[in-house]
Amino acid sequence: VRNKERACEELGIRSKTFKLPQETSQAEVIDLIKKLNNDPEIHGILVQLPVPKQIDPDAVIEAIDPAKDVDGLHPVNMGRLIRGQQCLKPCTPHGCMVMIKRTGIDIKGKKAVVVGRSNIVGKPVSVMLLQENATVTVCHSKTVNLEKETREADILVVAVGRPEFIKGDMVKPGAVVIDVGINRLDNRKLVGDVDFESVSKKAGWITPVPGGVGPMTITMLMHNTVEAAERLC
Ligand code: NAP
Repeated sequence: VRNKERACEELGIRSKTFKLPQETSQAEVIDLIKKLNNDPEIHGILVQLPVPKQIDPDAVIEAIDPAKDVDGLHPVNMGRLIRGQQCLKPCTPHGCMVMIKRTGIDIKGKKAVVVGRSNIVGKPVSVMLLQENATVTVCHSKTVNLEKETREADILVVAVGRPEFIKGDMVKPGAVVIDVGINRLDNRKLVGDVDFESVSKKAGWITPVPGGVGPMTITMLMHNTVEAAERLC
């Protein structure tokens, strides 16, 4: 949240943080969201997840006006994304796509493998890769012979939440590897879902952790906020 506030400051976006007490009810959060939905000075709203257990995150996200949903997680934006319609795109997968494109590779016809199928990363990034005409395989905890799948990937996106899970021998030489994972080890070190040491020797491109997908997510949040403001004004 601090990094998001800082990014807003740097860009000249006015941001307001509402730090609600732990015991705040779902109705109170939704009331606040409704107030912000109706405030013409506000162009973007995001609820920082996770929320305390008395609050249903889906109910809170669905209370946000889709036109102000700068995290791109509202079902209306998700539905539009799947249908290939104009929408506010979820920030982390959008950031992954920008980085893949910036390598200069032509995504069309490439084999893309996504490891992880969460609503915030795995599923939307798979849809975005499909829209760019990649042939997409989505892997998850029930996938049989994961290594066989990952070794065939020209583009490998990993969002599993397991430290250094993908090793060098699971990656195709020259592949574009996007590491979404953020894992804090017992020694406080921050590592991704990809073993940078071994995979960087095989990959053509690889994103570091920290300093890769994380900052790009914030960048795409700023991008969405500007887009929402331009459309609402
Ligand atoms: P999540 O909701 O926990 O989903 C994890 C996915 O990984 C699930 O689909 C799960 O499969 C799959 N998985 C777990 N173990 C597996 C295994 N052994 N083999 C294959 N697949 C396996 O996690 P998430 O929210 O997508 O986040 C993933 C990671 O990205 C976390 O480290 C998170 O902190 C990080 N993250 C970073 C950013 C950022 O801005 N950089 C943003 C969001 C998330 P099942 O569906 O079968 O359970």
